[in-house]
Amino acid sequence: MKKRLARCFRGFASVSGRFNIEVFYTISDFGYSVKLFTCTECGELFLMDTENPDFSGKSVSQIVGNATCPKCNNALKETLKPYPDNFRTDRSEIGQFHPDRFIPPDSESVIKEFWEIGS
Ligand SMILES: [Zn+2]
Repeated sequence: MKKRLARCFRGFASVSGRFNIEVFYTISDFGYSVKLFTCTECGELFLMDTENPDFSGKSVSQIVGNATCPKCNNALKETLKPYPDNFRTDRSEIGQFHPDRFIPPDSESVIKEFWEIGS
């Protein structure tokens, strides 16, 4: 699996009474074809290029196949969940985050590196 850069925005989530837990999200309105995922066993982040023609008509688990998480070695088919809809904290809690509909200015975007599913 290779790493790939993607433009995303910072969000601040809360879980179990803790606030300002940093998460990242992409905006589909960008005409941007990247979806983020996380390994719920270790919190590692992944992206999927949804416009990759090799993926058309396939489910996420078909695309993932037998790939394992580069960090914790679990089968991604079992541990992968959409992110930041689901995210894992440093205390091993699973939280949920849904970004505002408001789209932040481009100047607030950050470039982050993710493992690319299917690469
Ligand atoms: Zn993992």
